[in-house]
Amino acid sequence: MSVTETMTDSTTARTSRTVVSDPFGGILAEGFVPGAGIDFRNFQTCVHCGLCTSSCPTYIELGDENDCPRGRIYLMRAVAEGRVQVDATIRAHLAKCLDCRSCETACPSGVHYSQLIEPFRMDLEEHLAKRFDLFRDTVLYHLFPYANRIRLALTPVRIMQKLGLYNWLEQKGFFDWLPGRVGRMATLVNAPVPSGPRLPEFLPAKGERRARVAFFTGCVGDAMFRHVHWATLRCLQENGCEVVIPRGQGCCGAIHYHAGSREGGKMFADQNVAAFASVLNEVDAIICNHGGCGAMLQEYPNYWKDDQQEARRRFSEKVVDINAFLDDLGLVAPRHPIRMRVTYHASCHLAHAQGVHDAPKRILHAIPGLDAVPLDEEEICCGSAGTYNLNQPEMASRLMDRKMERIAMTGADAVLASNAGCLLQIEREIRRRHLPLGIYHPIELLDCSYTGQPLRR
Ligand code: SF4
Ligand code: SF4
Repeated sequence: MSVTETMTDSTTARTSRTVVSDPFGGILAEGFVPGAGIDFRNFQTCVHCGLCTSSCPTYIELGDENDCPRGRIYLMRAVAEGRVQVDATIRAHLAKCLDCRSCETACPSGVHYSQLIEPFRMDLEEHLAKRFDLFRDTVLYHLFPYANRIRLALTPVRIMQKLGLYNWLEQKGFFDWLPGRVGRMATLVNAPVPSGPRLPEFLPAKGERRARVAFFTGCVGDAMFRHVHWATLRCLQENGCEVVIPRGQGCCGAIHYHAGSREGGKMFADQNVAAFASVLNEVDAIICNHGGCGAMLQEYPNYWKDDQQEARRRFSEKVVDINAFLDDLGLVAPRHPIRMRVTYHASCHLAHAQGVHDAPKRILHAIPGLDAVPLDEEEICCGSAGTYNLNQPEMASRLMDRKMERIAMTGADAVLASNAGCLLQIEREIRRRHLPLGIYHPIELLDCSYTGQPLRR
């Protein structure tokens, strides 16, 4: 049932009275209008040209106008204006969006699509958050964002991996019997992760100091990719950077924010801003090495409007991706040859949210002996997209198949990606398909070229 009497002004969609059908069978709330608070000019910037459609992974796969950026903008605008009620169908089309932001790169009109879909979905999620969701309210909110808890939870996994038991269970399909998202997550954490010592608070530059930077460690990045953190730190030192690693920092906040907890995301944002406050004025940049985290850190000022906004803006404008930073600084020439063929998969939030397209490839091309070959549809999402692969397994798996086909066509020995989610998702597929392929962060190769150490197997 939907009853609407609509009044729209030039900046904000306002609906005076709306009763919305609950996609799960009840009534959401009288007067609840998802997207009503969105700046209406964001909708108006879209001129419906459709130039974004061919860059949208879900449209490429499904060919349905409702599953492309233009169609989704139509749907959200219609709901925000009170012309259409939110029902299960609309919600499904919006839920299928990966928030990969490929459409933002493609759009010639400068539509900030994420500033439409994110607050719209946040409205819906916050409204439905009153329902208890076991996975979200335990694993997602209380495990994932905490590196120490992840490490602890992974201890039995690591022991079973050492005994060969975890692989055996995975090969026998045991995890397929676990309920939904838990089973899917169990296969993602089977990556053979090298451990690394705790990160220090300070590392000196090698040779003449060219910059002083702070380093963001994150949660999953620190628990599962500490070897990438160490490679990043060594590369920074090699490039004449002094590094400080402030204590007290935490998850970037993206896990909470994208799962529908505006307040949870804000709590982590404020924690990080506070943790870096004492070094902010003395560093040239805050370095982040995972595309999704970096995008979140850079966009703090867009998400919350309160008296902390200026502090968040000062923090965010210093956040730089490691590839972009070294590329801008002027890379100290890598020394040792790495004789292999690699291909680069672009993390969506690195490419489309941070706008870092070519820096990782320039770094790879600088490594002697490395044959870096282009990947068809390099900037199309692999289906990982934060927790999308857990919540939308069918589309995630279609996109993964598409990505793996294209990786195979390159004949590469290894695939490279600058984001934890992509690395985990692609690694799982490599393992499942028994492919003779390596998977690395690009900075791992740069580090090996500096140190002369062999790449981890
Ligand atoms: S989002 Fe941009 S590219 Fe897509 S239809 Fe609107 S104006 Fe055109
Ligand atoms: S964010 Fe990605 S999946 Fe969503 S509409 Fe844009 S291109 Fe499509």
